[in-house]
Amino acid sequence: PSTAGRDFIRDIVAADLASGREKGVVTRFPPEPNGYLHLGHAKSICLNFGIAEEFGGRCHLRFDDTNPTKEEQEYIDAIERDVRWLGFEWGEHLHFASDYFEQLYAWAQHLIRTGKAYVDDQSQEEIRLTRGTLTEPGQNSPFRERQVDENLDLFARMRAGEFPNGARVLRAKIDMTSGNINLRDPVLYRILHAHHPRTGSAWNIYPSYDFAHGQSDAIEHITHSICTLEFEDHRPLYDWCLENLPVPSRPHQYEFARLNVTYTLLSKRVLTELVRGGHVSGWDDPRMPTLAGLQRRGIPAEALREFVKRIGVAKANSTVDIGMFDFVVREVLNKTAPRRMAVLNPLKVVIENFPEGQVEKLEAINHPDDPSQGARQIPFGRELYIERDDFMEEPPKKFFRMAPGREVRLRYGYFITCRDVIKNAAGEVVELRCTYDPATKGGNAPDGRKVKATIHWVSATEAVPAEVRLYNLLFTTPQPDAANFASQINPESLETVTAMLEPALASDNFEGAIQFERQGYFCRDKDSAPGKLVFNRTVGLRDTWAK
Ligand code: ATP
Ligand code: MG
Ligand code: MG
Repeated sequence: PSTAGRDFIRDIVAADLASGREKGVVTRFPPEPNGYLHLGHAKSICLNFGIAEEFGGRCHLRFDDTNPTKEEQEYIDAIERDVRWLGFEWGEHLHFASDYFEQLYAWAQHLIRTGKAYVDDQSQEEIRLTRGTLTEPGQNSPFRERQVDENLDLFARMRAGEFPNGARVLRAKIDMTSGNINLRDPVLYRILHAHHPRTGSAWNIYPSYDFAHGQSDAIEHITHSICTLEFEDHRPLYDWCLENLPVPSRPHQYEFARLNVTYTLLSKRVLTELVRGGHVSGWDDPRMPTLAGLQRRGIPAEALREFVKRIGVAKANSTVDIGMFDFVVREVLNKTAPRRMAVLNPLKVVIENFPEGQVEKLEAINHPDDPSQGARQIPFGRELYIERDDFMEEPPKKFFRMAPGREVRLRYGYFITCRDVIKNAAGEVVELRCTYDPATKGGNAPDGRKVKATIHWVSATEAVPAEVRLYNLLFTTPQPDAANFASQINPESLETVTAMLEPALASDNFEGAIQFERQGYFCRDKDSAPGKLVFNRTVGLRDTWAK
């Protein structure tokens, strides 16, 4: 396809195909199974799978499972589920770096035999201290000149489990004076006596990210290995490994800017701590920026794909306003979400001239722009609930909704006029006594008189109560500090109310979000049970974060 100008990665892919440097495109999404996927991963998934789709290639799902102490089967399962939910398929190309452990080991031996790797007996601390700094060169290890046979023997014994954790490492022999610290004899293998979710206790040594990643790409014939900018300085090492090993293909690494979003931390470490520390109810807590949390909050996968498309792919880091995400979510939901009425903070209204015990059915359309969604019947009666905020006893000038003596329209219903305000002993308004005009059914007065406001409502006798969870931003500052986030958690990130819903909401079986008219989008939570409805607020109708 013609993609010039779309983004620099797609331009590179298009140019490589046009010049014949590559015959097809093969990408991969390479998560480490040490947590759930988040919004940032969605950007990488859409980029990798999207490019494969657009250029008629394929994208692999590869688990980068080289660090068994942090990895779990639960995360593998969740990642597969979430990538599928986002709308992508890897077909038969589900791979694991651990499937290549034997090949990687053989390639490490190859580096030893060609004098390009050695076993170092220094401690991790000694290695760190002799690595030098940006301005100071590093120092050669005293073990750097070890003979090939001794290196091969020690490496085999590391694998066999003869030595404790940290006793030795395998290092590439590159250049301790390199301006790029990643090339100062990087560690290729470390000893780790740990159970691996897939290889069990077969291995006592594990390859580093840098040694596993490029070679895994080569084994899978990946053409374009796309990663985030922090790996830019690793690219020379990526290339060095491929150039010094008899690999079956020659992939190339390209870097793009990771996604950052205001009021959000996209780091699996932080998200893990939020879960472990009990700050949220789990990985799928609707306040979490995880795909599981966003899904549970009612965000459609389409909105995530659309958001990623709009933010684009660039080479410089930046931060996207969370308001932009909400904007896209609203835009997508507005097109399809059915409309219903629900009162979040109920105030009772008694229609004095409506007969007691009688229920009338009024017709309400399900979507203003989509006639195919049809209409439904909503019950109207003598007792109703309206939103407490829709009434003011002493309204300021610009408040046009309910007030003493004032007439307003009930959505899909009648005009009603407030005749009396009833208060409790504490002086709080507990009930409005109103009258309705039977001639205004459907929302218009035959005499042409106007009202300035239309409010939503439910029948008090027919409405169904529900727990509604209103989510606010998880952090109080636009740029939360990943190192010190606990003190920046918003104590009001979850507010729970008992709302009154129109009865259809109890029987509807929508998967996704529904618009509660004038309130926002909401979806039924998995905590719902027979006789106990729970709804999550997906997003409000207007941007309220900025206030
Ligand atoms: P975290 O920093 O949250 O631990 P990670 O990069 O360690 O994330 P991986 O599982 O290694 O997580 O990520 C898989 C892929 O997703 C990588 O290619 C990584 O670059 C990409 N990725 C991770 N976070 C983001 C982000 N915020 N924006 C874009 N891509 C991301
Ligand atoms: Mg990573
Ligand atoms: Mg990580």
